[in-house]
Amino acid sequence: MPSIAERLNNVSVSASVAMTQKARELTAQGIQVISLSSGEPDFPTPPHAIEAAHAAALAGDTKYPPIEGTPALKQAIQGKFKRDNNLDYEPSQILVAGGGKQVIFNAMLATLNPGDEVVIPTPAWISYADIVKFAGGVPVAVPCSQDNQFKLKAEDLDAAITPKTKWLLLNYPSNPTGSACSRQEMAAIAEVMLQHPDVWIMTDDMYEHLIYDGFEFCTIAEVEPRLYDRVLTVNGVSKAYAMTGWRMGYCAGPKALIKAVSNVNTQNSGGVCTLTQAAATAVLNGPQDLLAERAAIYQQRRDFVLERLAGVAGLTCHKPEGAFYLFPNIGEFIGRTSAKGRRIGNDTDFCMALMEEHHVATVQGAAYGLSPFFRLSYATSVEMLEQGCARIAEFCAGLR
Ligand code: PLP
Repeated sequence: MPSIAERLNNVSVSASVAMTQKARELTAQGIQVISLSSGEPDFPTPPHAIEAAHAAALAGDTKYPPIEGTPALKQAIQGKFKRDNNLDYEPSQILVAGGGKQVIFNAMLATLNPGDEVVIPTPAWISYADIVKFAGGVPVAVPCSQDNQFKLKAEDLDAAITPKTKWLLLNYPSNPTGSACSRQEMAAIAEVMLQHPDVWIMTDDMYEHLIYDGFEFCTIAEVEPRLYDRVLTVNGVSKAYAMTGWRMGYCAGPKALIKAVSNVNTQNSGGVCTLTQAAATAVLNGPQDLLAERAAIYQQRRDFVLERLAGVAGLTCHKPEGAFYLFPNIGEFIGRTSAKGRRIGNDTDFCMALMEEHHVATVQGAAYGLSPFFRLSYATSVEMLEQGCARIAEFCAGLR
C-alpha cells in the first residue's frame, strides 16, 4: 500500500474527539450519556447572524470570497478590536480564516522553520502542540501548577526561552483550566517578553467574553504597547457567539506577519464561506448584550458545578475566572479501584472508567499536558450538570 506522510507520525487524534466518539457509541447502544467533554457552547447562533447569511445568499453573495476577508468583515473586526480591546488595527493588519484553529495553523506554517520552538504554558488546548509539530516546530511545554492557578510564572517563561524560540503562545481565559490573567499578571509576562525581542507572541483570546465575577479581560498587545509589533492577536466567533459550525476565526498583527499568514491562506483555503462572513459581520457589528447575558448563565453553571464538586470527598477544584471548563484534581484517587474493578492508575483510567461505568464524558488532564486532572465542560444545561455531578459523586464514592 502507498504510505502515509511521515509528518503525521507525531500528530495525535484529539482526546476530546476520542471521548466524544466513545459517547456516541454508547448513545447508539441506547445508553444515556451525560456529555461534559465538549468545548462547544450550547446556545444557538444569534438570529441576526442567520438572517444576515440568508440575506447574503438571496442577494447572490455566493461567489469566491476575498481570501483575507470581505472589506465589511474586516471593518467589523477592526471595530471589535477598538471597542473591546482598545487596539488599533488597519484592515491590512487583519486576516480571516476558517476558525481560530486555521488561523493558528496557518500562522505556524508561515513562521516556523524546522526545529523552531514554541513555548506553550501547560496545561493547554490539545491542538497547539500538534499544530506546532505539524508545521515542523518543537512545542516546549512550560508547566503551570495548580498552586499558581495554572497561570504562567514570569521566571518559568524566562527560563523556557532559548535562541530557537519563535513564539510564545498565550491563552487566557484558558482551555482547559478557565484561568485568566489580571493586567498585573499579564504585565509580568510582557516584561519578560520585552527582554526577548526575537520572539513572536500569539495570544488566543477565544474565550475573551466568557469571564466572570467582574474579572476584567486583558490582552497583551494592549497591556504592553511596546510589544504591539510582535503580537498576533487571535480571536473568533465560535465561543463568544456560539457559532462553532460556521467556521470563522480572525487575527490581527504586524503587516508583514499578516501578509505571510495570508500567503498560506491562499494556498490551503479558498477563503471563508461568504455566508459565514456575512453572519460574522452581523454579530460583530450588532448588539453585544447577549455576551454579558450568556456569561451570567455560564457563571451560574460554574458555581453550581463547583458547589456540587466541593461535596465530593477527594476532589479539589480551583475556581476559574473564565471559559466554560473546570479542571478538578483527582490525585486522591490514583491507585484505587472502581466499583466494577477497574484500576485507576492515571487520569485517563479515571475518565474511561467514569465513562464506562457511569456514562459521563469528560477529558483526562493528560490530553492537555497535566495530570492527574480531568476537564469538565459546563457548556450544557443545569439539568445535565446536575445529573453529571451526581454520577461523578457516585463514581468517586465507589473508588476504593
Ligand atoms: N482556541 C482554543 C483555546 C479553543 O479551545 C478552541 C476550540 O476548542 C479553538 C481555539 C478553536 O476555535 P475555532 O472553532 O474558531 O476553530
